[in-house]
Amino acid sequence: STQLMAGKRGLIMGLANDKSIAWGIAKACAEQGAELAFSYQGDQLLKRVKPLAEQVGSDFMVPCDVGDSASLDALFQEIEARWGTLDFVVHAIGFSDKSELRGRYVDTSPENFRMSMDISVYSFTAVMQRAEKLMKNGGSALTLTYYGAEKVMPHYNVMGVAKAALEASVRYLAEDLGKDGIRVNAISAGTIKTLAASGIGDFRYIMKWNENNAPLRRTVTQEEVGKSALYLLSDLGSATTGEVLHVDAGYHVVGMKAVDAPDI
Ligand code: NAD
Repeated sequence: STQLMAGKRGLIMGLANDKSIAWGIAKACAEQGAELAFSYQGDQLLKRVKPLAEQVGSDFMVPCDVGDSASLDALFQEIEARWGTLDFVVHAIGFSDKSELRGRYVDTSPENFRMSMDISVYSFTAVMQRAEKLMKNGGSALTLTYYGAEKVMPHYNVMGVAKAALEASVRYLAEDLGKDGIRVNAISAGTIKTLAASGIGDFRYIMKWNENNAPLRRTVTQEEVGKSALYLLSDLGSATTGEVLHVDAGYHVVGMKAVDAPDI
């Protein structure tokens, strides 16, 4: 078969609904022949996740709260029992109390700082501790980040600090796991209207600003993130690790408002 993901088994973490970036990636992988497992945060999401998993030919769904190490252990035990090995993992998970995704970063509470770092940063490392053991033939891991890690973006606040730490952890994980043929990368996605994004203050304004000023003069879709993920998850990306790939219509290269950009 010429399908890019034929014979590969992968875990998709962070599917909440059909707007999720995880869904764009899952569809792209399934179209290229991957066999998929899904983990979802809790029971209230199963009614959304189940029909989506079925659409891509999967009946392998496991609840997992990444803030709970026993829950992570149980997830990877199920994967080991059913598959024995794992070829790729997609971590499309982030969380912060939305009351702190507005106002000033300096006002971040210690509780929300710790929780945001735990769920949005440490969870990827915790996943890789467990995935490493199942990636017996090498593998590829992908997480999702945002430009707010590199530059100050309105309201991103503690999530910007968390994404900076997540991007650094991608580089350390790439070094640790590279000897076993496991690649670790991130996609820095442009703004996309999802459940998580709707928690960010003035998100519509930020979307519009990106659309008016990105080199491609538009935002990006879940499907486009999915296509780019295929490069990193398949053998097309076999020499790329520790990388943060921007899939943002070029927004990250822009230094100031475009001369032809309309006022918002
Ligand atoms: P989403 O709301 O569809 O997905 C976020 C997922 O995180 C949900 O499935 C949620 O259940 C899961 N999650 C949160 N806390 C969890 C926990 N404790 N245990 C298990 N799962 C948990 O939104 P999305 O925009 O698709 O977000 C996916 C990733 O993409 C996030 O890391 C986000 O920061 C990143 N990202 C999003 C954008 C954007 O504009 N939407 C841009 C760049 C990066």
